Amino acid sequence: MAKIAMKTPLVEMDGDEMTRIIWQQIKDICILPFVDLKTEYFDLGLVNRDKTGDQVTKDSAVRTKELGVAVKCATITPNAQRMTEYNLTQMWKSPNGTIRAMLDGTVFRAPIMVKGISPFVSCWKKPITIARHAYGDVYRDTEYRVEEPARAELVITYKDGRSEKQTIFEFEDGGIVEGLYNTDKSISAFARSCFNYALDVKQSLWFATKDTISKTYDHRFKDIFQEIYDNEYKDKFEASGIEYFYTLIDDAVARVMRSEGGFVWALKNYDGDVMSDMLASACGSLAMMTSVLVSPDGKYEYEAAHGTVTRHYYRYLKGEQTSTNPMATLFAWTGALRKRAQLDGLTDLEEFADKLERASIDTIESGTITGDLNSLLDVPDKHVVTTEEFLKAVASRI
Ligand code: NAP
Ligand code: MG
Repeated sequence: MAKIAMKTPLVEMDGDEMTRIIWQQIKDICILPFVDLKTEYFDLGLVNRDKTGDQVTKDSAVRTKELGVAVKCATITPNAQRMTEYNLTQMWKSPNGTIRAMLDGTVFRAPIMVKGISPFVSCWKKPITIARHAYGDVYRDTEYRVEEPARAELVITYKDGRSEKQTIFEFEDGGIVEGLYNTDKSISAFARSCFNYALDVKQSLWFATKDTISKTYDHRFKDIFQEIYDNEYKDKFEASGIEYFYTLIDDAVARVMRSEGGFVWALKNYDGDVMSDMLASACGSLAMMTSVLVSPDGKYEYEAAHGTVTRHYYRYLKGEQTSTNPMATLFAWTGALRKRAQLDGLTDLEEFADKLERASIDTIESGTITGDLNSLLDVPDKHVVTTEEFLKAVASRI
């Protein structure tokens, strides 16, 4: 059988622990027998990040900007314990944080839905994708504890020395104050990433904040989204038959719970943090959650939402066969291959990505599953297999 050809290489970012093992298995069992895979390989495993002074992470992000599509394995974000375990020269920053900052991107997360695993919200029939604005607000705040009577003021000082001052509160006793900010630039990039992604997946975009209460701060988010929509995206949305709509955050939450899914939900930083955890647990498993970083100028980096599954890796090192779920990592590969195929006009590669996803979903629906899904899946004949057996079952269906 002739293998499917590629034109432009994918940026391949390898990672750590159990997901590094699964990474190789996915390629060997499900991709290489069918595709003449072209990638530019960057080893983002912690050992190599340490060896290169984290330059490899930056290089991979630069190459993603140039080539347009990357696929990333989960990586360790070092903490004190990892410093000793890997004898690190420095506590390197999260690679995801570094790449996100360099691409100025937004992360979109969506569950992989299969028959037999029903979301806890029974009306959800299609996946809901959450887009979280990962910049500013309470995550970059300045906080102060007031311990005696005091006046808290907000002072803005301009470059030319002019300044403006408002009283926040006259404290008669102890209390707390918090300063937040965001930038037009970051909000605009967020908005464009969301509009691009919605067009890409042909799903409507919802955006919600608390602009009735936060009449300047949250209102600015609403205005920026609306301006960019009207000037740059309205026609494209109408041509695609999808819509953009803004509503209050409380209304959005109520509507989401009554919806059947199948849309993209854009949220401010804190709202997105909270709501993505709610969505993930309502849909069952972190191992079935996909994630893609989209930059405002349309560069894509696909990955799994989960981490390196350390506990399984320690069992693997002892020689045990693990039953780690490869679905989210597999979908990172199919997402990247499909996007590459679309950009390069390769129909057979796009079809392959669709088939591989279908084969993996069919495998689960027919009852061949990894251990994590055993308590979630409701089908008559199910049997738990190892990761390798699962991937072989998927490949045999292609
Ligand atoms: P994790 O790797 O997501 O795993 C947490 C637990 O969730 C696992 O122990 C496992 O539960 C279950 N799980 C997650 N993915 C699974 C899968 N594919 N199949 C089966 N079960 C799965 O999170 P963590 O243990 O908090 O973090 C481990 C490392 O990953 C850390 O060093 C962290 O820095 C890194 N991390 C990286 C990323 C990223 O690169 N995007 C994201 C998050 C965390 P059981 O053990 O009960 O089976
Ligand atoms: Mg969270």
